[in-house]
Amino acid sequence: MTQPSAVATELGRNFLAVAEARAAILDGLSPVSGWERAAVRAALGRVLSADVIAPYNVPAHDNSAMDGYAVRATDLAADTETAVAVVGTAFAGRPFSGIVGAGQAVRIMTGASIPAGADTIVVQEVTRREGERVFVPPGQKKGQNLRRAGEDLAEGSVALAAGTRCGPAELGLIASLGIAEVSVHRPLRVAFFSTGDEIASIGRPLGPGEVYDSNRYTLFGALARLGCELLDMGVVPDRPEALEAAFREASEAADVIITSGGVSVGEADFIRDMMARMGEVAFWKLAIKPGRPMAFGRIGKAVLFGLPGNPVAVMVTFYQFVQDALLTLMGVSPLPPAAHFSAGARFSLRKQPGRVEYLRGRLQRDGSTLSVALAGAQGSGVLRSMAEADCFVVLGEDCTQVQPGDTVYVQPFHGLL
Ligand code: AMP
Ligand code: MG
Repeated sequence: MTQPSAVATELGRNFLAVAEARAAILDGLSPVSGWERAAVRAALGRVLSADVIAPYNVPAHDNSAMDGYAVRATDLAADTETAVAVVGTAFAGRPFSGIVGAGQAVRIMTGASIPAGADTIVVQEVTRREGERVFVPPGQKKGQNLRRAGEDLAEGSVALAAGTRCGPAELGLIASLGIAEVSVHRPLRVAFFSTGDEIASIGRPLGPGEVYDSNRYTLFGALARLGCELLDMGVVPDRPEALEAAFREASEAADVIITSGGVSVGEADFIRDMMARMGEVAFWKLAIKPGRPMAFGRIGKAVLFGLPGNPVAVMVTFYQFVQDALLTLMGVSPLPPAAHFSAGARFSLRKQPGRVEYLRGRLQRDGSTLSVALAGAQGSGVLRSMAEADCFVVLGEDCTQVQPGDTVYVQPFHGLL
């Protein structure tokens, strides 16, 4: 892997820009080895470890795209109505077994196989039926309204490439091929814990100066959604022996270790020293707000992310840096581009240049105009701002102020997938 420390020093400056940090993280990562077979439903959220090949044509037979009549194009007059004799009906799943001869037609439903002899579908709405005859207006084109065998997928072609993360469409596509099981990468094992003497677990009253642990729950949510196998190691106090034992256990059990807290330069932040002593770890001051300090590297075989302690900073660094790293380790390729779009600001703000700010926003749509307001107090400890928000408002390094109506970038939290 790229030595993050080397990258940080090479850059020769105090702050590491977002793109450089992302590149340094992703550069050295490759998918975990190990795969298993998963039944179609169990493949939801999993990443294909091998291409899925179409075992036959989809659709399997030429079929009708519309309800109407299957006819022979040569029978139809170019400039007048043509009367043809209706000799049968073709339903989806119940084909017409005869042959459509000269001057004949078959009533046909959407999805029904095209009967032998016919080559064109005339939609029902343009025809006129009189008893066993149907009148077809001029202007029909040979081959119209037909779905050809193999049109969606030709037999032997790659239906889904290795590296695809299966969503609803993929499950349906796999099933449409009659495939019951696919090969997927094994789940990523992620160990995570919170650090800090002041951090209390829920279920007991708070002591003086204590705060309840929220980071372990936001991380649980984000990791569980990615389909990781979780090893929740609780809260580890700021004591060297306890931290060392936790890192040892985590590095033996997991592919990835994620911690929160203790990576800045506070007095009780032993965790920094411990990480540096036990592995190859670089400490980054990221040019972002919130979330400035972050550690990245390896302890043993495990990839380590030492996230800041502040609850909003944890979520920002997770989504901006950690999530794509996890997807890469899970085998996802190519990574989906981050969804960014622009919206009109409904707030004003002054900003320090030289760093990227991730504010929490709420989108509003008025007709075709999208605007964004800030979601509550923006302190890096105010988790409510995340809960109330539906997007990050991303202000670039060079931005120094925002006025109402200015265009800003937003990153939505939720997508269709
Ligand atoms: P640190 O980076 O350890 O100095 O922590 C920065 C701030 O985040 C402090 O106010 C901590 O109390 C708070 N913090 C750290 N870890 C957690 C946690 N797991 N849950 C809630 N707040 C935390
Ligand atoms: Mg701490």
